Amino acid sequence: MKILNNISLVQYSTFRIGGSAEYFIEVKNQAELIEAVAWAKARRLPIYILGNGSNTLIADAGIKGLVIRNLTGEIKVLDSIQAFSNKKIPPRFQLVEPDPELTNLTYDESQFPPVLVTLDSGVYLPKAIFQLIAQGITGLEWFAGIPATAGGATYINLHGANKFWSDYLIEAEILDPAGQIKTTAADDFHYDYDQSVLKDSGDLVLAVTLRLRRGPKEQALKIAKYRQLKKAHQPQRSLGCVFQNLSAAEQKRLYLPTPSIGYLIDKKLNLKGTKIGGAWIPEKHAGFVENLGGATAADVLQLIELVKKRAKQQLDLDLKLEIVLWLN
Ligand SMILES: Cc1cc2nc3c(=O)[nH]c(=O)nc-3n(C[C@H](O)[C@H](O)[C@H](O)COP(=O)(O)OP(=O)(O)OC[C@H]3O[C@@H](n4cnc5c(N)ncnc54)[C@H](O)[C@@H]3O)c2cc1C
Repeated sequence: MKILNNISLVQYSTFRIGGSAEYFIEVKNQAELIEAVAWAKARRLPIYILGNGSNTLIADAGIKGLVIRNLTGEIKVLDSIQAFSNKKIPPRFQLVEPDPELTNLTYDESQFPPVLVTLDSGVYLPKAIFQLIAQGITGLEWFAGIPATAGGATYINLHGANKFWSDYLIEAEILDPAGQIKTTAADDFHYDYDQSVLKDSGDLVLAVTLRLRRGPKEQALKIAKYRQLKKAHQPQRSLGCVFQNLSAAEQKRLYLPTPSIGYLIDKKLNLKGTKIGGAWIPEKHAGFVENLGGATAADVLQLIELVKKRAKQQLDLDLKLEIVLWLN
């Protein structure tokens, strides 16, 4: 096991922002991940697990403790299953102008035979989705182009178009804070929009089991390519949407045509194009903050405060963060 000291985390966040980790390790399989956790626990160090760093704002001052970069990558296709039902979450996705391409591509998944697939939590979804489709396994195409690992997706309940990760998750293998490995059913994560108990439990996800389909390969490929292309036009040196989209009640109260946070920041708060230091609210997508080069976490936090303050003052709206702050 190779624990490193004082390693810059800049390259491990899609934002390209952040200080150094006091201790740092990259793990390539579950045994290494478990060993790294045990190493930190024996020294009573805080443990931080990083997937692809596409949703995490890392403090300029760095992180005290052990940062584990999760590169576990095993994918296993298991047996088919029949019964499965999970809580349905109302999507917060609705375009001001409907996208006919997206509507045309949508299909009824339920008519295709289910198949169980297990992914290590470090599996990088943009690659895995195409690998699975090549094997005739469909379902995850809605998440194509999102730079997430399976662990990050499980933590936040990843959403793509009107699908959620929790639509597919059956269970996850967890390493709990006491060092026990256990299996947790998807329902026990109490998923909602951008919400899971993982945010408070301190559990680490080792692997996930998904219910996918032996579905329409060509159709899924079209969807994946379409979604990938759309995502490629978004600012990449970012963490995706900084704030959550609005709830149905908030959208209704404000008479908005969409729950999109980008729409709100652009059209209602007029903050598109605002720049602080090296960070700005980009023209392309006002829900994002983009690093123009040399941005600091402090710049981003100031922008966040500005948007929150304006939303409160002008609309009496309490915006909720979608990104994770590592500010110890
Ligand atoms: C260009 C761009 C587009 C995006 N588009 C979308 C989108 O359409 N929909 C969407 O939902 N998100 C989107 N995002 C945000 C982001 O990709 C997702 O939130 C994703 O799930 C984060 O995964 P990650 O592996 O990068 O997580 P990280 O940023 O590495 O981690 C996020 C949090 O999850 C925790 N975590 C990671 N792995 C584990 C694990 N194994 N066990 C326990 N906790 C863990 C981390 O500790 C951290 O608290 C986008 C981001 C970018 C940059």
